[in-house]
Amino acid sequence: MAVLLKSSNEIEKMRRAGHVVRQVLELVRSHVKPGATTLDLEKAAEKHIADLGAKPAFKGYHGFPCVLCTSVNSEVVHGIPSSKRVLKEGDIVSVDCGAIVDGYYGDSAITVPVGEKIDPDTARLLRVTEASLQSGIAAVKPGATLGDIGAAVQAVVEAEGFSVVRDFVGHGIGTHMHEDPQVPNFGQKGRGMKLRTGMVIAIEPMVNIGKPEVMVLEDGWTAVTGDGSMSAHFEHTVAVTATGSKILTE
Ligand code: MG
Ligand code: MG
Repeated sequence: MAVLLKSSNEIEKMRRAGHVVRQVLELVRSHVKPGATTLDLEKAAEKHIADLGAKPAFKGYHGFPCVLCTSVNSEVVHGIPSSKRVLKEGDIVSVDCGAIVDGYYGDSAITVPVGEKIDPDTARLLRVTEASLQSGIAAVKPGATLGDIGAAVQAVVEAEGFSVVRDFVGHGIGTHMHEDPQVPNFGQKGRGMKLRTGMVIAIEPMVNIGKPEVMVLEDGWTAVTGDGSMSAHFEHTVAVTATGSKILTE
């Protein structure tokens, strides 16, 4: 599939979808506390997406059953909300949400600590993963390359002794959740496709405290770290503009 460039009108629609996703994620964040289940988060999100007049992007996508992905601790991405998954003090939960407005998609993720007593390395994992996303976004401008983004993310992560997941990557986004190109969170400066004004991409570093390898559980969805280490995930949908970039999910 070719890379589809978006008009300013299309990007405005994507910003509206992105705004829905942001509002949902902030609501979900307020529900994250010891004793809550990941299904509680799902229910709050599903209602809020509907209240905002949007459609959920994930539910039904290749058969995914929910509007959120909720991935706890060593779960990397694509965890399925469940009434059996009770959050406890010291956990972290990655919450990924997509919404559709007027046929256009927004996609964003945050990782939230549960309670106040987070292990220092885990707290650092959250800070570093979010910082790596910001570093990747800072590399976005016309003429820069996908490798510039990946290298910027990877440098921040590896300077802290953490590792970037290779098996899942960011992506183009527009009237489909996943469009070309793929946007790896690793790479070399100057390599890969050049960014052009009107491209819209989801940048989404997944970072493990331990090794980068992941495996998928028997449910066919939940990806976990191979070594059981904690994993974090932050994501924004970002448009390439004439002067640099614009985050559509904040
Ligand atoms: Mg996402
Ligand atoms: Mg995504």
